[in-house]
Amino acid sequence: MPGQFDIIIIGSGAGGGTMARALAGSGARILILERGDFVPREDQNWNPSAVWKELRYRTTETWLDERGTAFRPYTHYCVGGNTKFWGTVLYRLRREDFQAVEHMDGTSPAWPIDYDTLSPYYDRAERCYNVHGEAGADPTEAPRGPYPHAAVPHAPVIAAIVEKLKQQGLHPSPLPLGLQDHCIFCNTCNSFPCKIHAKSDAEVCGIAPATAQANVTLWTNARARRLITDPSGRKIEAVEVERPGETLRVSAPLVVAACGAVNSAALLLRSANDKHPAGLANFRSLVGKRYMAHLATMMEGFHPFWPNDTVFQKTVAINDFYFEGRDTPYPLGQIQSQGRTHGVMAQTVVPAVPLWAYDAWVARGVDWLAMTEDLPREDNRVTVEPDGRIRLSYRPNNIAAHATLVNETRRILRRLGFWVVMSHSHKAKNTTHQCGTLVFGTDSRTSVLDPYCRAHDISNLFVVDASFFPSSAAVNPGLTIAAQALRVADHIIEKDLRS
Ligand SMILES: Cc1cc2nc3c(=O)[nH]c(=O)nc-3n(C[C@H](O)[C@H](O)[C@H](O)COP(=O)(O)OP(=O)(O)OC[C@H]3O[C@@H](n4cnc5c(N)ncnc54)[C@H](O)[C@@H]3O)c2cc1C
Ligand code: SF4
Repeated sequence: MPGQFDIIIIGSGAGGGTMARALAGSGARILILERGDFVPREDQNWNPSAVWKELRYRTTETWLDERGTAFRPYTHYCVGGNTKFWGTVLYRLRREDFQAVEHMDGTSPAWPIDYDTLSPYYDRAERCYNVHGEAGADPTEAPRGPYPHAAVPHAPVIAAIVEKLKQQGLHPSPLPLGLQDHCIFCNTCNSFPCKIHAKSDAEVCGIAPATAQANVTLWTNARARRLITDPSGRKIEAVEVERPGETLRVSAPLVVAACGAVNSAALLLRSANDKHPAGLANFRSLVGKRYMAHLATMMEGFHPFWPNDTVFQKTVAINDFYFEGRDTPYPLGQIQSQGRTHGVMAQTVVPAVPLWAYDAWVARGVDWLAMTEDLPREDNRVTVEPDGRIRLSYRPNNIAAHATLVNETRRILRRLGFWVVMSHSHKAKNTTHQCGTLVFGTDSRTSVLDPYCRAHDISNLFVVDASFFPSSAAVNPGLTIAAQALRVADHIIEKDLRS
C-alpha cells in the first residue's frame, strides 16, 4: 500500500504509544502495527490467580537462555505493551545518571544527552501520564517544578513506617505515580491490568488519544516480521507484516521501531539482507548487545501481631543509598514499597505451602523492592536463532552492590521491628525492565542510534523503546522512554515532516 501512510510505528507500548500521541497532531498519516490485541476488560484483570497462576495475559512465546533452555519471558504483547501491567512508578533519571558513574563492578557509561536536555520532555511526559508526586521531597532528584498532581497520600501503616524511617535518619519520599483521576486505589495494580482504565498506561495516555484522530490507524494482531531496505540498503522501503491469515508489505517514508528492547533488536537481526548481512544497523556488530534489566529483589517484612490493612501500598521510596552505601562509596540503588503481595503470588515461589498459610502470612507483611543498576556488557545480548527464535544471554553483574542493598533493606526492616524479612528474586529471568540493546550515542563506532534515536546507517529508521538506554540507572525506565519518545517526535516533526 505505498503512499497510504507517512509514518509506521511498530509497537504500542511506552515508546510507541507515546510517539503515536505526540505525532498524531502533526497531521501525518500514521499506521501503528501492534502484534497483540487489546487487553479485554474483564473480572480476571484483578484476579491474582488468573494473573499469577494462569499467566493469563503473559506471552506464551518462549525464548532461549544462554544455555539454550527455553523460558517464558515476563513480557506482554498487547495494545499498550508492558505499560498495561506496570506499577506506574514514573521516575526521572537522576541528573548523575546521565554522566559516567563508577560502580562496584565497573563504569556506568555517560549518555549522549544530559538531564537538562531531557528535562522539558520529562515535564511533558509527566503531564501526559498524569504523574502524582512531591517536588523537593527526594534528595536525589534534580531541582524541578511541581508535579502535575499532588503525591498519593500514604495509608496509615505506611505513614507510620515513614515516620519511623525518618527516625532512622533516612529520607523517605513519595513515589511518583501515574494515575488517572478515577483510580480507586485497589490492591491489584502492579502486574495487573486496570479493569477501569485508571492506570496511566500507553493505551490510555498514548494510543487512545492518538487513534481518536482520523489520521492515525491501528492494526492489532499485526506482527512486523522484517524490515526491508531499498537496493542501496540505506532506507527502509517496506515492513513485512504478519496478520491472521495473511502476510503483506506496508510502506511509509519513516519507520519507528518500538517493539521493546529485546524485540526491536530481534527485528533488526531478523531483517538481515545482502547489504546488511549481520542485520540492519549492525555494521559494527552492536545490535542486541549491552542488554540490561536491573537487579531486583522482592522483600517482605513480617510481624505476627501486626496485621497490615493497607490496600494501596506502593507509595514510598528510600533513595538514601542511590549514590553511595553506608560503608561503600559506590551506588547501591533504590528501595521502594511494593503493591500488596497476594497469597497466590507467594505460592508461585514455593507451591507446596498451602494457600491459607500464605494468605495469613501476607496479611501481616509489608512488601518492598530493592533495585540496583546493572552495567552494560557486550556478552549480555539478544541474538536470533536460525529459526527466528530469540536467545537472551544474560549474566547479572554488579551483584555485590545489590547484595549490599538487600542487606541494608533487611537491616532497615529489622530496625522497624519486623520479626522476619523474606526475599525473593527472579534473577536473570526478570525481563520487565529490559533495556539497552540498541544504544544511542554520538559515535557510530560505539552506538547503533544517534542522539535522536535515528539509526546511524539507515536514514528513515528510528527506535524509541527502552533499547536506546546506554545505562540502566536504578529507577524504573518508563518515564525516560516516554520523554525521549516526545523528544524524538519533536525532532521528526521539525526535520523530517517539515522538510
Ligand atoms: C509487571 C511490570 C511492572 C512494571 N512496572 C514499572 C513501573 O512501575 N515503572 C516503570 O517505569 N516501568 C515499569 N515496568 C517496565 C515498563 O513497563 C517497560 O520499561 C516499558 O513498558 C517498556 O517500554 P517499551 O516501549 O520499550 O516496550 P513495551 O512497553 O513492552 O512495548 C513494546 C510493544 O511492541 C509490541 N511488539 C513487539 N514486537 C512487535 C512486532 N514484531 N510487531 C509489532 N508489535 C510488536 C509489543 O506487543 C508491545 O506492545 C514494568 C513492567 C512490568 C512487566
Ligand atoms: S484502580 Fe488505580 S490502583 Fe487499581 S489497578 Fe486501576 S490504576 Fe491501579
